[in-house]
Amino acid sequence: STVPTISLNNGVSIPQLGFGVYQVPPEDTKEATLTAFEVGYRHIDTAEMYRNERGVGEALRESGLDRSEVFVTSKLNNGFHAHDDALAAFEESLEVLGFDYLDLFLIHWPLPGIDVDFVETWKALEEVYRDGRAKAIGVSNFQANHIRRLVQETEIVPAVNQIEVHPYLTNDDVRAVNAEHGIATEAWSPIAQGLVLDDPVITGIAKAHDKTPAQVVLRWHVQRGDIVFPKSVTRSRVEENFHLFDFELSDSDLGLITALDKGQRTGPNPDEFN
Ligand code: NAD
Repeated sequence: STVPTISLNNGVSIPQLGFGVYQVPPEDTKEATLTAFEVGYRHIDTAEMYRNERGVGEALRESGLDRSEVFVTSKLNNGFHAHDDALAAFEESLEVLGFDYLDLFLIHWPLPGIDVDFVETWKALEEVYRDGRAKAIGVSNFQANHIRRLVQETEIVPAVNQIEVHPYLTNDDVRAVNAEHGIATEAWSPIAQGLVLDDPVITGIAKAHDKTPAQVVLRWHVQRGDIVFPKSVTRSRVEENFHLFDFELSDSDLGLITALDKGQRTGPNPDEFN
């Protein structure tokens, strides 16, 4: 049961399943990432904001894996949206990780109310893409109107838009706009930080497939074509979340899960967060 890859709009391949390290304490991140590598994950999602990039880089070097065998994403921290600040923050990311390139670098939040327009920030990301230090660039938490502005006013279409998606927030309007522009959707908090795992629809489908609720929800994402990177520091769960490719949900299962949508966010509304 190997992890499928998705081809991004610039031809770069990304493993559809990765390991997220949000809220993994910096001092535990090397160990947690090493566990993920042992289990088989080859895609790590970190961010400057998480303050744990160093542990990700250390784990990669200690694992004995080649840099080219692992896909690593990081994200520009809020507060660094001005052009020169964004370039400096990108360089700091590389230095802390101990890498000479990132596979994917994202604007973490659009921050539509601050005095720096995200279009300016995006132009800084276009530079690190053009000089090869980021193999792909993208955005996170961009709403439909933010995506439309980037597409109209800049040259490079984002490779991904990483947004909150789970059964209680299917976010299908933003996913549709992403798809319309060839932008891959990455679903953050794919199991809503555990919130959806007790839902009777999900536990029922899990029982029928002899799988766990987390596996069913992650499988739903995979069959919808989204990229996911569940987070856990518990080895048994890290393993559980990796084993998604030996079963299939029916169209009826998928429909029942999608119908659980109630527009419930676990994180901030990107239109209001600045
Ligand atoms: P998640 O949906 O992956 O849930 C993680 C939590 O669910 C864990 O802390 C644990 O309590 C529980 N859990 C995990 N596996 C389980 C299992 N098999 N059974 C039972 N419980 C389990 O939430 P997340 O960490 O918020 O999101 C995943 C990743 O998405 C993050 O680590 C980060 O990389 C990314 N993310 C990005 C943004 C953004 O703004 N771009 C925001 C949040 C998260």
